Amino acid sequence: MRVYSTLSKSKEEFIPTEAGRVSIYVCGPTVYGHVHIGNARTFLSFDVIRRYLSWKGFEVAYVQNITDIDDKIINRANEEGRPASEVAAEYAEAFVSAMHQLGVEDPTVRPRATEAIPQMIGMIERLVARGHAYVAHGDVYFSVRSFPAYGKLSGRDIDEMRSGARVALDERKKDPLDFALWKAAKPGEPHWPSPWGEGRPGWHIECSVMSEDELGLPLDIHGGGADLVFPHHENELAQSEAATGVQFARYWLHGGMLQIDAEKMSKSLGNFLLLKDILAKHEAPVVRLLMLQAHYRSPLDFSDARLDEAGHAYQRLENLARNLRWARSLPAEGAGAPAPEREAVVAQVRSAREKFEAEMDDDFNTAGALAAVFELARAANVFLSDHQSVFCADDREALGQAKEAVVELLGVLGIHIAEEAALDYPPECVALAARIAGYSGHDPAAAVDELLAARSAARAARDWELADAVRNGLSELGFVIEDTPQGARVVFG
Ligand code: AMP
Ligand code: ZN
Repeated sequence: MRVYSTLSKSKEEFIPTEAGRVSIYVCGPTVYGHVHIGNARTFLSFDVIRRYLSWKGFEVAYVQNITDIDDKIINRANEEGRPASEVAAEYAEAFVSAMHQLGVEDPTVRPRATEAIPQMIGMIERLVARGHAYVAHGDVYFSVRSFPAYGKLSGRDIDEMRSGARVALDERKKDPLDFALWKAAKPGEPHWPSPWGEGRPGWHIECSVMSEDELGLPLDIHGGGADLVFPHHENELAQSEAATGVQFARYWLHGGMLQIDAEKMSKSLGNFLLLKDILAKHEAPVVRLLMLQAHYRSPLDFSDARLDEAGHAYQRLENLARNLRWARSLPAEGAGAPAPEREAVVAQVRSAREKFEAEMDDDFNTAGALAAVFELARAANVFLSDHQSVFCADDREALGQAKEAVVELLGVLGIHIAEEAALDYPPECVALAARIAGYSGHDPAAAVDELLAARSAARAARDWELADAVRNGLSELGFVIEDTPQGARVVFG
């Protein structure tokens, strides 16, 4: 397996510290509002990376923190006149439930910053003792100059940064690039006791502490969105390596930004769409398909057109599920498809599996992996529609293999096409069947059977008006009737 690491700026062979085990730390959300779909993209990317590594047989320990103390949380709490802890608890809960809705698996551990304050104080004390940090008026700062490798992750040069950037002058800092490890409490802010007085931790230190506490160093993979490379990850790296003398993380993976009109989606720009609002209108697999059709490191433009495309792609998969279910119900008594065609399907299954794995092994290229699955789905659909009239047991076996591969590989990407769910007909089918086929039950699937039976009887009686009414009624609900030698069936239009 090869993964691109921001630290080496190249694709490297993936070799975890301990054979068979992988530790992953991904920076979690700051909980002061609902997550937007940009945030969701990053969490989804790492969900898939983690699922894939598990599927490959690694034992994965996946830690994602929750930043539940931060300026933004405090500001929001002040605006709303309630405690910061209440704001954080509300949005942490909303975050977890939105992730569940998107089908993102829970991390192995989800530590909260406010539950690790003593350990943070411990690390800051170590940094002070080792000469990497200094105290100034109740604040503690990391001394960037004390860590010669500072800048190695983001590829920045300290001197260039100093001259180029107009870094705000702050007389408490010895160097304008120094950053806070501990902040003295301001009136009205949440605070904890420390050797330097009441205060609260800086943002960067929490990840250094929680990752090491939960996983030990070095981390195999440290991840987050590309916007975290500098300063957040640069600072995490400096703190952790300065405090421990040990490598912090072997591979640094950074996700590309989700954009709208070529601009990064962010709370501060105001161009954001909340994940919960998108999921209220679109199914989770559709959103996952949309996001996974791009490489996780590339920027991804989000648009309604893309959502529609992903919706159609998902319908194609649902259609396949219907078709394969249909195939199982066919009497397998025919002469069978020509052997070379059947063997081609079996070969396609093998090559789709190989291609899927090769693409994912190449820096988790979900776009290529999905293409392999869609190719197989297309081949299975064509085979089925070409040969259903002569279907035999071997044909069924070949399609069964195709189905298993599609379901398994999509499952690795967290996309589930439940066959039963895929066959759900909307409740409107009941009313339609009641109106034109005299159906008196309440089950949409039975109603569709009734409609097809009524249509078949109407055609036999040359009652074209009724036959057309069935076709048109179902068409309005998004379904198409296909006539096959085994009878009529309904598929998504
Ligand atoms: P935050 O709560 O702002 O720390 O963000 C949580 C995660 O979302 C971080 O990993 C960010 O890098 C990521 N993120 C923020 N905006 C975007 C975006 N537009 N596209 C992709 N990831 C993002
Ligand atoms: Zn972090």
